[in-house]
Amino acid sequence: ETVQVDLGARSYAIHIGEGLLSDAGDYIGPMLSRPRVAILTDETVAGTHLAAFEAGLAAEGIETAALALPAGEATKGWEQFSRAVEWLLEQRVERRDVVVALGGGVIGDLAGFAAAVLRRGVRFVQVPTTLLAQVDSSVGGKTGINAPQGKNLIGAFHQPSLVLADIDALATLPARDFLAGYGEVVKYGLLGDADFFHWLEDNGQALARGDTAARIHAVRRSCEMKAAIVARDETEQGDRALLNLGHTFCHALERATGYSDRLLHGEGVAIGCALAFELSSRLELCPQEDPSRVRAHLAAMGMKTDLADIPGDLPPAEALYDLMGQDKKVMDGQIRFVLARGIGRAFVTADAPREKVVALLDEALSAR
Ligand code: NAD
Ligand code: ZN
Repeated sequence: ETVQVDLGARSYAIHIGEGLLSDAGDYIGPMLSRPRVAILTDETVAGTHLAAFEAGLAAEGIETAALALPAGEATKGWEQFSRAVEWLLEQRVERRDVVVALGGGVIGDLAGFAAAVLRRGVRFVQVPTTLLAQVDSSVGGKTGINAPQGKNLIGAFHQPSLVLADIDALATLPARDFLAGYGEVVKYGLLGDADFFHWLEDNGQALARGDTAARIHAVRRSCEMKAAIVARDETEQGDRALLNLGHTFCHALERATGYSDRLLHGEGVAIGCALAFELSSRLELCPQEDPSRVRAHLAAMGMKTDLADIPGDLPPAEALYDLMGQDKKVMDGQIRFVLARGIGRAFVTADAPREKVVALLDEALSAR
């Protein structure tokens, strides 16, 4: 299956399917001006999928060199970034060459940013191996690293030239990481496609158990939605903010838990979506039954649905609210929320009264 991202001269294809790692040479070969690619990956993925990917390239006569960085979010900083850029220079990657990101969102973001600045920009290919990366981070051209001052504060818009999402790669993904990625999948249904959300209610279990057809469908539909929104608003002047459904709450919770194991990003997104629907219902924007329907689906999938599901201490409601205010999405001191008129009908607003949000958080905290 193929999804096209329409961005004029920067358009590209997302291929979604089985066996794409082994067939990578067929897709990447035609792009190359000489049969050589440099691959950035992490140590975990190097152990599970690098050999198959390099064999797929070798089958088409493409030489490879690979650098495996440590796995984990801590890699997304200056230290590993400069290591990666200098390695690419040592490999004599030139303007006409192609850099490949093989891994999850950490590798995709870092490698994409490296490609954006190397020799003022070289092409790169995303080969996402986590569900989160397949449905979200590999598409749309946001690249970058974290600063000591905050997440994703250093970066560039640099679209990939190709995305290869191999569903088979997900077979080795730990269940917790899979479900975290699923949080972003649910987000797409909730923000813009009620039919897709209903499909997920019916097929989510099969998808989690490993049903290939269901996984392909979910990744394809997610990519279609992200591609359409990015095509309308590449640099987030407007509509792209819809993709932040659940994220204002999520970012506050991630800050409160120190970006630790206590809460994975996608888990925070799922909780954030449930809270956004609860808030929408209290503001009488969406039907009263919607928040429980959202929560019921997340719970049926075995996911965290509420603040009560986050282990350890959390700050009080007022403090959590202030953590939301540190978001990039704040304009003129007003926190912008993505709220909904119903399932599949999200919109962006700065009109959520502070006291309503604090009250909601306070109740959620006291249920802990
Ligand atoms: P990740 O890259 O750290 O991957 C999660 C873990 O899974 C890692 O330990 C990794 O080694 C391992 N892994 C990867 N593929 C595997 C596989 N097939 N089998 C077994 N293990 C595998 O994290 P992630 O969740 O993929 O991505 C999170 C990052 O993405 C964050 O840094 C976030 O800021 C970024 N992100 C970026 C965008 C964007 O638009 N650029 C969007 C969302 C998130
Ligand atoms: Zn996200």
